[in-house]
Amino acid sequence: MKSGVLIVGAGMAGLCCALRLREFGVDCLILEASDGVGGRVRTDLVNGFRLDRGFQVLQSAYPEVRSQLRLGDLGLQCFEPGALVRRGGAFHPVADPWRRPTELLRAAFSPVGSPLDKLRLARLRGELAGRSVEQLLSEPETSTLEALHRAGFSEAIIHDFFRPFFGGVFLEADLSTSSRMFRFLFKMFSEGEACLPAEGMGAIPEQLARRLPAGTIRLNTPVRAVRPNEVSLTDGETLSADAVIIATEAPAASRLLGLAGPDLKREATCLYFAAARAPIEEPVLVLNAEGDGPVNNVCVPSVIAPSYAPAGRHLISTTVLGCSARAEDGLEAAVRRQMSAWFGSQVEEWRHLATYRIRHALPAFEPGVAPIAPNPSLPGIFLAGDYRESASLNGAMRSGRLAADAVLANRP
Ligand SMILES: Cc1cc2nc3c(=O)[nH]c(=O)nc-3n(C[C@H](O)[C@H](O)[C@H](O)COP(=O)(O)OP(=O)(O)OC[C@H]3O[C@@H](n4cnc5c(N)ncnc54)[C@H](O)[C@@H]3O)c2cc1C
Repeated sequence: MKSGVLIVGAGMAGLCCALRLREFGVDCLILEASDGVGGRVRTDLVNGFRLDRGFQVLQSAYPEVRSQLRLGDLGLQCFEPGALVRRGGAFHPVADPWRRPTELLRAAFSPVGSPLDKLRLARLRGELAGRSVEQLLSEPETSTLEALHRAGFSEAIIHDFFRPFFGGVFLEADLSTSSRMFRFLFKMFSEGEACLPAEGMGAIPEQLARRLPAGTIRLNTPVRAVRPNEVSLTDGETLSADAVIIATEAPAASRLLGLAGPDLKREATCLYFAAARAPIEEPVLVLNAEGDGPVNNVCVPSVIAPSYAPAGRHLISTTVLGCSARAEDGLEAAVRRQMSAWFGSQVEEWRHLATYRIRHALPAFEPGVAPIAPNPSLPGIFLAGDYRESASLNGAMRSGRLAADAVLANRP
C-alpha cells in the first residue's frame, strides 16, 4: 500500500475504524488473521441453529450502536428487561429492575432483598440518567462490589441478583470489575433493551463490513509485527502505509508491539443444546443464585429470536464463567446435572450442539489497572480495541472511531 492506513484486525473496532476513515475519503486496508470478520462477535450456523461464539447481547442504548449501526436492518428481537432467579430450588421472577425498580421485589421475590433495595435502585437509576457515558467511564473508581456496598444495597440482593447478573456480564463472580463498568452498564440496561439480531450477533460486524468498498478486508492474513508505518505478515510480506492502527485484543496488541503488557482478561465457556421444547417460555435471562453448579446464566435464544433455531426446535444457551480444567473432563455432564435439577427430566432429551471455550472473552477492567500501556508513543502507530475504552461492543466501536479520528488529525 503506497499511502493510506493499515488496520490490523477486523473485529468491531477495526471495522468501525475503517468506516470512519472511508467517511473522510481515506484509503485503508484491514488485515485479519482469521477466516471471517467480527472477532469475538461471530455466529456459526450449525444444522439450522445460530450459535453465537459465546452468549452476548446488543444493548440498544449504546451510543455508538445508535450512531454507527443501521439497527432497522438487523431485525432486532429483545429480551424482557426482567430475569428469573433460581434460588432455594425455585424460580423467582424479577420484574424490570432497570426501568421499574419499584416493581423489583414482587411478592414471590420479596425474601430476596430488603424493601429499601428498590428505592436504592430507583435512586441509582435517577443519578446515572443525569450523566453521560464518558462521565461515568472517567469518574473515580472502586470495585463493583464496593460500589454496591457504598450505595447501601443489601447482601441478599447482591447475592441473588447483582452477583449472577453482573457476574454474567463481567464474566467474573467476585464483582471485582471497576465500578465505572458497573455504572455504565447499569445505565445502558436502564435506558435501552438487550437484543439479538435475527441472524445472530455475527450480523452486526457483517453489516459494517458490507458498507466498506470491496477489497478493503484481507482475511486469513495474520500480522507478525508492527513498526512505525510498516506491517510484516507471517508469510514474510511487508506492507507500508501512512499510518498503522492495531485493532486487536490487548494481548495481541502487546505482542505486535513487543510490549510486555499484562494479560488481564476474562474467560467464558458457552454450551449450546438443542431441544424440542423450551425449558422457559419467557424471553428472559435465568440467573443462578443457588451458589452451586457450573452454569451462571441460561437463556433460550430461540424464544427471543425464533430464527436462532429451525422450525419446531429450540436453542438453549448456558454460560459458565471461566475456562476451567473441568471443560475437558466432564463439564457437559456437570451442566446437564445442574439443568436437570432446574428443569427436570426434559433435559435428558437435550442434544449437545457445541461448546465454545473463549480464552480471551473480555479485557479485565479492575480499578487502577490498564490492560496495556495506554500509549505506545510510537509515531505512525495507533491503537483501537475494547480494552482502550470499555469491555463492550460500545467500547470497541468507540475506540475504532477515535483511532480513526486520531489518524485524521495527524494527517498533513
Ligand atoms: C462470551 C462473550 C460475551 C460478551 N458479552 C457482551 C455483551 O453482552 N455486550 C457487549 O457489549 N459486549 C460483550 N462482549 C464483548 C464484545 O464482544 C467485545 O468487547 C468486542 O467484540 C471486542 O471487539 P474488538 O474489535 O475490540 O476485538 P476483537 O473482536 O477481539 O477483534 C480483534 C480482531 O483482531 C484479529 N487479530 C488478532 N491478532 C491479529 C494479528 N496478529 N493479525 C491480524 N489480525 C489479528 C482477531 O482475529 C480479531 O478478529 C462479549 C464478549 C464475549 C467473548
